[in-house]
Amino acid sequence: MTITPASPGPALSRPGRSWSGTVDYGPGPLHVPSSVDQLRALVGSSARIRALGTRHSFSTVAASDAALVSLADLPPDLEFDTAARTVRVGAGVRYGELAVAAAEVGLALANMGSLPHISVGGASATGTHGSGDRLRSLANSVRAIELVTATGDLLTLDREQDPEIFGGVVLSLGALGVVTHLTLDLVPAFAMRQSVHLDFPAEAMNGADLLGMLAGGYSVSLFHHWDGHVAQAWVKQAVGSDEPLPEEWFGGRRAVAAVHPLPGMPADFCTDQTGQEGPSHERLPHFRLEFTPSNGEEIQSEYFVAREHLGEAVAAVMPLGERIRPLLHASEIRTVAADELWLSPAYQRDSACVHFTWKQLPAEVDALLPEIEERLAPFAPRPHWGKVFTTAPETVRAQYPRLPEFLALRDRLDPGRKFTNAYVDRLLGE
Ligand SMILES: Cc1cc2nc3c(=O)[nH]c(=O)nc-3n(C[C@H](O)[C@H](O)[C@H](O)COP(=O)(O)OP(=O)(O)OC[C@H]3O[C@@H](n4cnc5c(N)ncnc54)[C@H](O)[C@@H]3O)c2cc1C
Repeated sequence: MTITPASPGPALSRPGRSWSGTVDYGPGPLHVPSSVDQLRALVGSSARIRALGTRHSFSTVAASDAALVSLADLPPDLEFDTAARTVRVGAGVRYGELAVAAAEVGLALANMGSLPHISVGGASATGTHGSGDRLRSLANSVRAIELVTATGDLLTLDREQDPEIFGGVVLSLGALGVVTHLTLDLVPAFAMRQSVHLDFPAEAMNGADLLGMLAGGYSVSLFHHWDGHVAQAWVKQAVGSDEPLPEEWFGGRRAVAAVHPLPGMPADFCTDQTGQEGPSHERLPHFRLEFTPSNGEEIQSEYFVAREHLGEAVAAVMPLGERIRPLLHASEIRTVAADELWLSPAYQRDSACVHFTWKQLPAEVDALLPEIEERLAPFAPRPHWGKVFTTAPETVRAQYPRLPEFLALRDRLDPGRKFTNAYVDRLLGE
């Protein structure tokens, strides 16, 4: 395939920083092409380049010492196939916008992250997940992917037609090319209700009760502060299949007023918690698309462990509670179903995720993370690629049995390492 002789488009001088301000994306330039042909010409003529999504990762996964490219100016290209229940969508589109458009044609995403502001391409690349015992991470809904490879060619891969490599291309940390479009599986639109229970007793922090609460609805999130009890349980139920919860549940009482998971933040930013039925995309995320999400003044870390080890993993970290709390906004526990994506933190393992939303104290957080990771080590934790961790690269690599196949695929698609960065070199190998 030849490279279209289009102009590579305008370049801005600096790519700037992440949403939280904690990641400097490097010297740039940042390119913002307005057509796929421009993007192909740009990639084909660049020595090194890397895609940038909506800038919500806390790790340096998106940063580069070379050029970056944003797809923010490409058309969203939302193409629904209502009979097949799929959508082909531009990689730069935010889930929240996609979900609203899907609802208009009677369809829905089966799963969403806590934040609807992130891009489909960026979330798929890092294994972004919501919560749900039976819900896999968002990348698992991808059935076809179109990416610009190192030569500037456009490559389309399909879950059914390319099964031998498809598990390696969707969640690939931006290391195989610039994804232009994804085709996603959708489900018929469905209604949900969300309620919050508060102030659980200390006894309910054992493994069996935690897993019992996490099984209490289609999607459940438990917030706590490493003081031995669950502070808030956000239970998102599918109307028609989940039974509404009683007023008292696992010893926690139903909240009478809306709450924010981070202490001191306004509940207006959050999705409805009154138990009222509404479209799934207005219940599955914690935060509303029209508000600035969460706090901004934060850093996040998260570790996936086998679900059956959740109670032991939480108990192992609990003695650090007094050291964790001064640095913490809140911690969250969620579940993710096992999948087959080669670099997925839930690869072949039904997982529970132990998450930390830290105050913006990077030096203190970096100093404490090795101790948390040491306590989690017996449970073979896999860190979230888009969040901050200090785990040694060889320990991370040992968690991914399909990594050799991923590296062979990268050798094939990007032999000159056009799409790599320091993060990928360090964690996966050069
Ligand atoms: C407030 C907040 C809440 C969050 N909640 C959750 C949550 O509920 N669950 C969860 O799992 N994570 C969560 N995260 C983390 C976040 O969802 C992930 O880090 C996600 O990858 C961010 O997507 P993005 O579009 O901002 O991508 P970026 O951070 O901009 O980029 C991430 C990676 O994707 C690659 N990439 C982006 N676009 C493309 C493309 N077109 N082609 C190829 N590669 C591409 C980049 O190169 C980079 O490697 C949260 C983050 C914040 C700030």
